[in-house]
Amino acid sequence: MRLEARVLIIGGGPAGATAGRVLAASGVDTLILERDLAGAKPCGGGIPSGAFTELDLPQSIIRRKITRLRVFPPKSAPFQIDFPSGFIGIVDRKHFDAVLRDMARAEGAAVMQGQFSKFLHKDKGIMKVEALIGGQPAQVSAEYIIAADGVNSRVRAMLGLGRLAAVHTLGARVPVETDACEFHFGALARNGYGWVFPSAGKASVGLGGMDPASLKASLGRFFALRGLELPDSGVRGYRIPLWEPMPLASGKKVLFAGDSAGMVMPFTFEGIYYAMRSGALAAEALAEGRPALYGKLWKKRFHLRFLLMKTLWSAFMKDDAGTERLLGVFRDARIQQKGIRLWLDKSHARGSLSSFVSALRKYILF
Ligand SMILES: Cc1cc2nc3c(=O)[nH]c(=O)nc-3n(C[C@H](O)[C@H](O)[C@H](O)COP(=O)(O)OP(=O)(O)OC[C@H]3O[C@@H](n4cnc5c(N)ncnc54)[C@H](O)[C@@H]3O)c2cc1C
Repeated sequence: MRLEARVLIIGGGPAGATAGRVLAASGVDTLILERDLAGAKPCGGGIPSGAFTELDLPQSIIRRKITRLRVFPPKSAPFQIDFPSGFIGIVDRKHFDAVLRDMARAEGAAVMQGQFSKFLHKDKGIMKVEALIGGQPAQVSAEYIIAADGVNSRVRAMLGLGRLAAVHTLGARVPVETDACEFHFGALARNGYGWVFPSAGKASVGLGGMDPASLKASLGRFFALRGLELPDSGVRGYRIPLWEPMPLASGKKVLFAGDSAGMVMPFTFEGIYYAMRSGALAAEALAEGRPALYGKLWKKRFHLRFLLMKTLWSAFMKDDAGTERLLGVFRDARIQQKGIRLWLDKSHARGSLSSFVSALRKYILF
C-alpha cells in the first residue's frame, strides 16, 4: 500500500489529534497514523478548565469536575485548596483521544490505524516512511512529519536522538470516595508524588518517582496508607518525560510535539494541555510553510513557565526538607490563589506568571 499527505502525523493522542485538527482546518492535506485507535493511555486525565475554552473542547467529554485539591506534605499536616473559580475536568483518555481524533476528522484530516516503523529515504524534499497498516508494511510519503508518538517515541529512536529522561509511574484504577484531587509527597515517591484523581466511577491512583524498582515496593504501602486495596490485576506502569530545553525539530522536516518533545510541566507533571498546545503550534507553523516558526512560538509562549517549574522541582523536590519548604508556601491563601489561577487559566500566562513569581519571592530566594 502507498499513501501520501502533505503532513504525516505519527501518533493520534492529544498532541497528534490536535495538530491534525488545526492543519486540516487550514486546508492542509493531513494524515494521522495511530497505532491503536481503541487504546487508553494510563493517565489521571486531569485537564484545567481554561483548556476547554482555549482549545474549543466540548465540556460534554468531562467525566467529573473537581474544584478542590488536597495536599499531603511528607511530614506536616495535610491542607486543602479550594478553587475560587474554574475546575479540573477529569476525562476518560480512551474516550477523550477518540473525540479529539473525531474533531480532526470533522475538519478533513484522514485518520488511520497504523504503526510507524522506520524512515526509508528522502527524495526531492519528500520524506518516505514505512508503517505497518493492517499488519502489512506500507509506504507513506509526506512533505513534513509531526512526531506525536509519546514519551517512548520511535521517531526519536529512528533518528538516533536517544531516549527521553523520564519519571516512572505505577498505578491502577480503583473505587475511591473523594471530592478532591490528592497529591501525596514524601519518601514513597521521591522527586514525584502519589496521586488520587477521582473520576465518574473509579479513581486513578498511583505513584511517580525516579526509581521504577522501588515504586513497585512502595505502591502497596501507598495504597495501604490511603486505606485502599491494591488490585491483583490492572496495575500499569508508564513513563512521564522530564522536560529540559531541547530542539523541537530534527532538520526542517520533522517536528516533535507533546511527550515526544518532553513537554510535560515539571513539578505538576501536567502534559495533556501542553501536548495539545504544542501540537497546535507545530500545525500553525506548518500551515504557514515555516517549520522554524514552531520553536519560536513555543518559546515565546511557554519557555519561561517551564524553566520556573523545573527550577522549583530541582531545588526543592529532592528531599523531605525541601519539599516541606516549598509546599509550606502553598499554605498561604494568596499564593494558593495565584498558583491555581496560573494552572487553571493559561490564557493570561505572562501576567499570571509574573504575579505568581513575585508572590513566591517573599518566601523563596532562588
Ligand atoms: C500515570 C500518568 C498520569 C498522568 N496524568 C495526567 C493528568 O492527570 N493530566 C495531564 O495533563 N497529564 C497527565 N499525564 C501526562 C499525559 O498523559 C501526557 O503528557 C499526554 O498524554 C501526552 O500526549 P501526547 O499526545 O504527546 O502523547 P500520548 O498521549 O502518549 O500519545 C501518543 C500516541 O502515539 C501513538 N503511537 C506511539 N507510537 C506509535 C507509532 N510507532 N506509530 C503510530 N502511533 C504511535 C500511541 O498509541 C498514542 O496514542 C499523565 C501521565 C501518566 C503516565
